[in-house]
Amino acid sequence: MKEGVRYTGIASEEELKNSFGIPSAARMKQGPVAVIECVQEIPCNPCEGTCPFGAITIGDPITNLPHLNETLCTGCGTCVAMCPGQAIFLVNDLSEQEAEVTFPFEYWPLPQVGDEVDAVNRAGEVVCKGRVTKVRNPVAYKNTCVVTISIPNAFKDDVRSMKRVIKQTPMELAEQKERASQLVCRCEELTRGDIEKAIDEGATTIDGIKRRTRAGMGLCQGKSCERLVARILSEKLGRPLAEFLPATYRAPVRPISMGVIADNCEKE
Ligand code: SF4
Ligand code: SF4
Repeated sequence: MKEGVRYTGIASEEELKNSFGIPSAARMKQGPVAVIECVQEIPCNPCEGTCPFGAITIGDPITNLPHLNETLCTGCGTCVAMCPGQAIFLVNDLSEQEAEVTFPFEYWPLPQVGDEVDAVNRAGEVVCKGRVTKVRNPVAYKNTCVVTISIPNAFKDDVRSMKRVIKQTPMELAEQKERASQLVCRCEELTRGDIEKAIDEGATTIDGIKRRTRAGMGLCQGKSCERLVARILSEKLGRPLAEFLPATYRAPVRPISMGVIADNCEKE
């Protein structure tokens, strides 16, 4: 498949490399700085007029790509809110472990400072967890909120937004809690919440769940819980139930006495 903003709506590495809005790695270490990922020659220039420090130039013709003067940029974030193409971000390379990324956010409800969120890349895919450090929504931003999240430094060139915050009502939260406490594996005393946690941590099969939680390894050897675990897997992963059943059996399928085995031995 062809890459690039014209074909996928996502700027390719090549396009970003050839644009004039990406600051140097050295500048990113000095504090927040604009990263202008505007790679299509379109008639647009609000960013140029909106920067109070003259750090963005488009000039004539209006279809020129924006040029960033990284020395003049203070990382104030005004252009992030004012760009109609939502193509401007701020990156702050804080340390070897941590970086901050700032982006426009136009969904309700707004996140709160301190919230843990799913940080996503340009394609909207979850890349890592982030923590909200700043939420700005002054009247001048005309309802385009500007959110800053702290993320692991390794993802600072990928993360460009976050997943929407889904706030649940107290009733929904209570239902969720009740559901999570349903007993699934009686022998090992495991709840639906325990099984869902194992899936969130990467388990994709009944054996995977078993290795993480011991579900199905108790006295009944999965007779009561195996189908329930399979159903939770099917619901959470969105795949047919038949894909998970039957699980891999290992002898003995159920406890038997040594006498049963002895009775089947040939007499010498
Ligand atoms: S972050 Fe502020 S100073 Fe930097 S380019 Fe944008 S508006 Fe100008
Ligand atoms: S305002 Fe945004 S979309 Fe328009 S030219 Fe500037 S960076 Fe590109």
